[in-house]
Amino acid sequence: MFVGEREILDLNHKPMTAAAVSHLGVAPIAVSDSSEPLTDRGNGEQQSTELNDGFHVSGRKRRSNVKKKKKARSGPPLMWEVWEEEHEKWIDENLTADLDLDQQNAVINETSEASSELIIPLLRYQKEWLAWALKQEDSPTRGGILADEMGMGKTIQAIALVLAKRERIRSIGEPSGASLTPSSSTALPMIRGTLVICPVVAVSQWVSEIDRFTSRGSNKVLVYHGNKRGKDIKQFLDYDFVITTYSTVEAEYRKYMMPPKEKCPYCGKSFHQKKLSIHLKYYCGPDAVKTEKQSKQERKKLKFTFKSDKEHASYCQNDTRKVARKRKPKHKEEDNDVDLEFDEAFAGIEPNLPQGKSLLHCVKWERIILDEAHFVKDRRCNTAKAVLTLESLYKWALSGTPLQNRVGELYSLVRFLQIVPYSYYLCKDCDCRTLDYSSSTQCSNCPHNSVRHFCWWNKYVATPIQQYGNGELGKRAMILLKHKILKNIVLRRTKKGRAADLALPPRIVSLRRDTMDIKETDYYESLYSESQAQFNTYVQAGTVMNNYAHIFDLLTRLRQILEGSLAEQH
Ligand SMILES: [Zn+2]
Ligand SMILES: [Zn+2]
Ligand SMILES: [Zn+2]
Repeated sequence: MFVGEREILDLNHKPMTAAAVSHLGVAPIAVSDSSEPLTDRGNGEQQSTELNDGFHVSGRKRRSNVKKKKKARSGPPLMWEVWEEEHEKWIDENLTADLDLDQQNAVINETSEASSELIIPLLRYQKEWLAWALKQEDSPTRGGILADEMGMGKTIQAIALVLAKRERIRSIGEPSGASLTPSSSTALPMIRGTLVICPVVAVSQWVSEIDRFTSRGSNKVLVYHGNKRGKDIKQFLDYDFVITTYSTVEAEYRKYMMPPKEKCPYCGKSFHQKKLSIHLKYYCGPDAVKTEKQSKQERKKLKFTFKSDKEHASYCQNDTRKVARKRKPKHKEEDNDVDLEFDEAFAGIEPNLPQGKSLLHCVKWERIILDEAHFVKDRRCNTAKAVLTLESLYKWALSGTPLQNRVGELYSLVRFLQIVPYSYYLCKDCDCRTLDYSSSTQCSNCPHNSVRHFCWWNKYVATPIQQYGNGELGKRAMILLKHKILKNIVLRRTKKGRAADLALPPRIVSLRRDTMDIKETDYYESLYSESQAQFNTYVQAGTVMNNYAHIFDLLTRLRQILEGSLAEQH
């Protein structure tokens, strides 16, 4: 049975039709139509499993089901069965835990001091981050999510991590130089640098914060964005930070990783396959018979048909389009506008790269930092795909948007971090695990059919929460998500929670009683009665508000007498 990824994705957005159900060979169930993007379920069979488990089945009963299944098959239990049992048991023990994803209440007692190259003092909670982040990089997770509320200095905290780790590596004498020689024939060359991926508008903020807050000459920064960006991977060797944008990563991915364009046999222009057929139908070659007026009508119809596709695409490419629109030439044929935008973006880049990959994709970075990580929240869009195919030793996501009600979007971050088993597709019949769902019938990792595989996240988190919400199964999944999965990868603090750290240093007020001599007292009192008389005339005339500048002057002169007498005494 062939199940294409496209078909599976569609099932998440529409109630299944009878035809779709019989095609998948599972019992019909209602799939809720939610605006929240739900990642694919892995396969149809998993849905029937969920259905059999049913509503309000206690954890204990679920576990006994697992035991029964185990008896039916000989041999030791598989990894996913062990994980499932562990998790169910863990949830049973933590049933009273709260479900607010934005109240992580993480208590970190440890702090780390910043590198001497960071010339801005870190606040208490930022030193806690540093201790936690350094530990995370040593853990199997090798990264995490910094989800502090907006305005708490996520950028400076990320910079502090890069500097602290570098200082630590230097102090234990590890080689810090980059090497373009891969560790094995299949591995990518390693770059000792941090790749920062951010929206176009944040590039200058990164550059200026590194410049202002680190000691002079301690960090080399490359902005890899725009037409004039270099085309040799050796350039990356010289830099501590390579700052690029989501639109650049996506453009390189589209250019080098996606199917190549085909040439029109009649005019020689290149098009992606779908666009070429439109081009041949209306514009070019012996079969393009429509008049201009008719083809305009056809285009309108086509636009309508593909509207949802286009909306999705423009939503994903927001970042790209902001930049591209400015350069977009007028009076271009509608059907190749988008391609021209990307061609222009690549005017300065030659296509002769190793393995047909983009520059960013053909090295392994020491660290990738995703700023405003919600840019990859929908893992089906090209921005997310482009980011997920980048390789690095450590991975960090920075995001200030609240996590509650964004369960569907969290998967792309978990997938980015490649957490085991939460981001994997697992085989029901063996210990095979794979990050990306294969659309072919046969799994490329094991002898079992693709439909025998399921996405861990969907089975244990996304599907129960979406289908059962506040029901018991939904609650159990939320507890697992918050207290087991996110607890180990997310650090989130709020300004309110860390108000004490953020407060200005306390103001010190000291009082001192001084006296004036006779001359000073005379002068002061005469000026005082003069000022009072002047003020009273304003009051009587009802013109106080018209003369406040003059009144302020009078008060200032009185103060100056006091200051003068104090200056004499000290
Ligand atoms: Zn043509
Ligand atoms: Zn298998
Ligand atoms: Zn497999």
